[in-house]
Amino acid sequence: MEEDRSASYSMGVQKDRNKVERHMAATAERRVLFVASECAPFAKCGGLGDVVASLPKALRRSGVDVRVVIPLYASIDRAHYALVPEGTCRVRTGAGEVNECEIFRATADGGVPVWFVGHDRFFARNGIYDDHGQAYSDHAFRFGLLCMAAAQVCRDRKWIPDVMHVHDWPTAVLPAMLEAWRNNGRSDGLERTGSVLTIHNQAYQGYSHSSALPYLGLDESFYTPEGFEAYGQLNLLKGGIVFADEVTTVSPTYAKEIRQEPLGCGLSMYLRRRGETFGGILNGADYDVWNPEMDEHIPAAFGAHSLIGKGSCKRALQEEMGLQVDATVPLFGMVTRLAAQKGTGLMRTVLPWVLHEMQVQLAVLGSGDPADEDFFRRLAQEAPGRLAVNIGYSEALSHRIQAGADFFLMPSEFEPCGLSQMYALRYAALPLVHATGGLEDTVAQYNEAEGAGTGFKFYSFTAQAFHDVFGWAVSTWYDRPSHITRMRERAMEERFDWEASAQHYLEVYERVAAKRR
Ligand code: ADP
Repeated sequence: MEEDRSASYSMGVQKDRNKVERHMAATAERRVLFVASECAPFAKCGGLGDVVASLPKALRRSGVDVRVVIPLYASIDRAHYALVPEGTCRVRTGAGEVNECEIFRATADGGVPVWFVGHDRFFARNGIYDDHGQAYSDHAFRFGLLCMAAAQVCRDRKWIPDVMHVHDWPTAVLPAMLEAWRNNGRSDGLERTGSVLTIHNQAYQGYSHSSALPYLGLDESFYTPEGFEAYGQLNLLKGGIVFADEVTTVSPTYAKEIRQEPLGCGLSMYLRRRGETFGGILNGADYDVWNPEMDEHIPAAFGAHSLIGKGSCKRALQEEMGLQVDATVPLFGMVTRLAAQKGTGLMRTVLPWVLHEMQVQLAVLGSGDPADEDFFRRLAQEAPGRLAVNIGYSEALSHRIQAGADFFLMPSEFEPCGLSQMYALRYAALPLVHATGGLEDTVAQYNEAEGAGTGFKFYSFTAQAFHDVFGWAVSTWYDRPSHITRMRERAMEERFDWEASAQHYLEVYERVAAKRR
């Protein structure tokens, strides 16, 4: 019996191996170009920047020749990242005007080549999308130029990708540009390049004045309710959803959610129409960067085998942030953009209530909406030693909060995937989340009877439900510490590797390449 089982197991493995080898042979020469507005560590506002850094790295490990194009923002330190100038690139816009762009190149982590498109008028600005909350109004032109330059970089180097992989509204116009070039009978190789759009957040769609169309090289046929037009304006994300060969989003649950309203944000019908050519692929976490066993940002290492170091991290975080040093009180951490999507509305109602009635501490790192920033500053003054806030952006402190916290708060109204809760699991900070999108897919609900699960979820997006789950986590901490220990061990062993997700993306690229061949 035993023998039979192992025989069939090894046959199964052999079959898998053959499949992978065949797949590797097919993908060895695949060329994929990522065109995006962010890529960590060069330029990052959120999860999009992390994905554009980590997914290419994983794809490269699978033998894909993947490269990345992003803008050369003023904030990118050329010397620090060893950017090498590669001359200029002449980009003829659809309106016939020629723009000179400076091209730089660097090698990112994992050996991924990254090209930077420099164009002072559009990219030598303080921010990526806005200047201190004031959104730039010319983003169709800015990111349109980026897309045209990305194509020109490929032509100039005779490096023609099989697939252009674009991300969110900033680069969602590129699939339509490829379509327009094909329609115009252009033959420079790119006519056989397919396109994939990944939606990292359906709520940001990039509305723009339709006067940008000629600049983008798109004629009126693209500007219909079945194309880019929405409410008398250009909707860049919508154009991407309609014209890309395949569309993906960043978790299976979010894919289901945005096929319907309200989370489809007005575009659910266009996603439903795509049928099989739209689906969800869960993001991975980069465990080279997020690993408490070797993390240069945290004061003590720890792992599933021993949590002693985590105790030291908690103590150090309490000291650093001016919280009372106390190992017995549960410490909730939060690292976030302060925006309505992240559940700041619920926090405003529930956090003062929680601080009033429960023995807890909160360490918050975040920036964004000025009203939310004020709320946290005020709350910190009202609860000194119990709630500490750092308004700002700090990669290092974000690691220390994950390492020091006992629980991690993420009451997002919606969450396409969310990376912070994956990092929290790895750092044994049990996530307390609203069960939506990727949070639903990655956090396993605590089961009080068996002590199973990896975190605490609330299902209805109400202050009462958020408050109650907070109470549940706190009572578990005080009353069932052995369950907390077991959950931590389980959480730390959970893995959301890029390898598995990269294989799913490879399948998407294969379908797209086959379609355009
Ligand atoms: P989103 O992309 O919606 O902002 P994610 O959870 O997918 O949310 O990704 C957020 C990423 O940004 C994580 O890597 C998180 O650590 C980081 N981050 C968010 N706010 C800050 C901050 N204030 N300081 C440092 N890192 C932050």
